[in-house]
Amino acid sequence: MATILVVDDAAFMRMRCAKLLKDNGHDVIEAENGAQALKVYQEVKPHAVLLDITMPEMDGLAALKALKQIDPNAKVAMVTAMGQQAMVMDALKSGAKDFVLKPFDSDRVLNAVNKLLTR
Ligand SMILES: [Mg+2]
Repeated sequence: MATILVVDDAAFMRMRCAKLLKDNGHDVIEAENGAQALKVYQEVKPHAVLLDITMPEMDGLAALKALKQIDPNAKVAMVTAMGQQAMVMDALKSGAKDFVLKPFDSDRVLNAVNKLLTR
């Protein structure tokens, strides 16, 4: 059992992710943009983060870079739409461990989270 921070500006995505992770025994906290994610991360120190790329306020890439400065060991997987390969490459170079392509696939999300937790 781990605490996972789910960051997405779409409430529907957060809800689906949260339900999936809770059904698999995890605790979930949510944030709706990068700025909020940084704040929550420092308060809660989650074991892993699922981070959407496209968000208002602060996008996932900026949030990833800031998170890694706060905690170089932060375990982050990016959640990405089609056509964001350049951003994904940048994210992987910036310390993201994995990425999950939308549309949402339960097995892929769980697999990514399990990978983050076992590293
Ligand atoms: Mg988004």
